[in-house]
Amino acid sequence: MSYAITLTTQDGKQLEFVCAPEQNIQDAAEAAGFYLPAACNVGSCGSCLGRCIRGDYRLESYTPSLLPANPKEHGDVLLCRTYPNSDLQLTTFYTAAQIGSSQQVAREAEIIRVELIAERTMLLALKLFPDAQNSVAFEFEPGQFVDLEVPELQLKRAYSIASTPNWDGRLDFLIRLQPHGQFSTYLETAQVGQHLMVQGPAGSFGVQGKGFKPRCFVAGGTGLAPFLSILQRMAEWGEDHPTHLFLGVNNEREIFYKDELETLADALPQLKVVICVWQPSEKWKGFRGTPADALKAHLETAKMMPDVFLCGPPLLLEAATQVALATGVSSERIFSESFG
Ligand SMILES: Cc1cc2nc3c(=O)[nH]c(=O)nc-3n(C[C@H](O)[C@H](O)[C@H](O)COP(=O)(O)OP(=O)(O)OC[C@H]3O[C@@H](n4cnc5c(N)ncnc54)[C@H](O)[C@@H]3O)c2cc1C
Repeated sequence: MSYAITLTTQDGKQLEFVCAPEQNIQDAAEAAGFYLPAACNVGSCGSCLGRCIRGDYRLESYTPSLLPANPKEHGDVLLCRTYPNSDLQLTTFYTAAQIGSSQQVAREAEIIRVELIAERTMLLALKLFPDAQNSVAFEFEPGQFVDLEVPELQLKRAYSIASTPNWDGRLDFLIRLQPHGQFSTYLETAQVGQHLMVQGPAGSFGVQGKGFKPRCFVAGGTGLAPFLSILQRMAEWGEDHPTHLFLGVNNEREIFYKDELETLADALPQLKVVICVWQPSEKWKGFRGTPADALKAHLETAKMMPDVFLCGPPLLLEAATQVALATGVSSERIFSESFG
């Protein structure tokens, strides 16, 4: 037995496929040749967020911060955790262009820069080797991520791209070193010239097609990466848009990319950057607290409710989501990319 699934993208394209009761929507779409944005496939990243507008379904375990407390009230789902009990009509928050028609082929890349830029924070820059068409270009939407793989260690992790699409095949990443983390340990001794595999792009996080409301970007540490890509693209294209960026770090030693953010603020006069230090020294003159605290202070006096974009560790996302909902931002206007 299988059920008929209709999936409508944000820009109105309809995909139709079938799904067995014991199959999740993400897998069923893939079996039908539709490669939907996805990262973790275990309900922990939020890339496959969608909404069920008709039909009955089961939602299996997921990271609670990714969906409202009562997800069935408005049909909020994660496609990788949704199993049909009937025919279903679903909508997604991504556009048809973000859906692939074939499995992506991993590309080989060389490390061209790897360095500690602040406490526990690495900059990793890669240069892709030419693909089968002899091109080094890599197309993606700012906000998306890739999987980086170290084949000899059988190690693969997702990282958001911190740079913008370019013709040189260069990709930048900002990576927080996790104690005893496998990829973190690899990075600590990684050298320029070593090779990695890059698979992607993937994910639907970003501002594409989100409209003209003011925007609040809330970043926990290296959660800055997708926002850097988005802001650089806005600067390149002269898309000045009322935007607040709240970047959170634990202490001043963890602050990175201060100059780069100042340069972006010069290029984008409507961009306001607030660096939030949770446990600052006495010398710190900037904001004291978390980016969720800074978001709260901003939303309480905002004339117009903004779209809120969150990226970083799950606990920050949870706190910032609660703040946004409590101050009147509707759940549909909160977009997150969880590093959990
Ligand atoms: C879509 C997506 C995009 C991502 N983009 C980025 C990015 O741009 N920059 C970035 O730094 N990370 C990013 N991450 C997180 C990244 O994929 C890894 O999970 C992280 O780098 C840890 O990998 P590891 O191999 O070093 O640690 P692992 O070996 O996987 O874990 C080792 C230990 O660290 C703990 N741990 C792992 N991750 C975290 C965390 N985030 N916070 C607290 N403890 C943790 C684990 O519980 C475990 O005890 C992203 C994750 C996703 C799903």
